[in-house]
Amino acid sequence: MIRVILWDVDGTLLDFHSAEAAAIRALFHKFGLGICTDAMLADYSAINAGFWRKLETGELTKPQVLTGRFETFFRKYGLDTGCVADFNAAYQLALGDTICFCPNALEVLLAFKGKALQCAVTNGTVIAQKKKLAASGLDQIFDHIFISDEIGIDKPNIAFFDAVWQKIGIYAPDEVLIVGDSLTSDIRGGNNAGIRTCWYNPKGLPSPDDLKIDYDIRDLAQMLTICK
Ligand SMILES: [Mg+2]
Repeated sequence: MIRVILWDVDGTLLDFHSAEAAAIRALFHKFGLGICTDAMLADYSAINAGFWRKLETGELTKPQVLTGRFETFFRKYGLDTGCVADFNAAYQLALGDTICFCPNALEVLLAFKGKALQCAVTNGTVIAQKKKLAASGLDQIFDHIFISDEIGIDKPNIAFFDAVWQKIGIYAPDEVLIVGDSLTSDIRGGNNAGIRTCWYNPKGLPSPDDLKIDYDIRDLAQMLTICK
């Protein structure tokens, strides 16, 4: 029986791509960088994902990721890279201005409220994540919130999960489920921590052989059956 649900936030409960697009478009206007097209946004998304993967593998530090992604993106489109640090700082704030839930996220969270201990486990900066959690009302639903920047280490590192157990206490491994869209941070992290894993996989991507995935779901509403 699942007594604790560890929820990833971006890409699992909140539609990160919609928020990302709105924030970047608004800042292109603010910084006088012209129009940011859909194709440019798609390019940025790919660049950004590449930089976060390098954080997960330890090739880059968080500050290198935050500014490096915009430096690479701006350079590709011939934009002035001199404003990258300011742009990133403004982006951390702007990201919290647009809230878009993934389908059924709110319904499922509310269904488990008071029935299971629900914790947010998120890799990100404190400023961006706290603002987003407050603006979405998610901070009122979660029993605990764990942000990697506050802990000092990211998922999938076992030390991230040790910080969680320190706060909520010790549960049997099969009583804890992590739900997330990232194989490299959420599922790998769940495997490292020895708990059950649920991959939010709305696009139905093939699952890898080197990870233990207990549940592979297309729709968050399937959680209602898994945690009955
Ligand atoms: Mg995610």
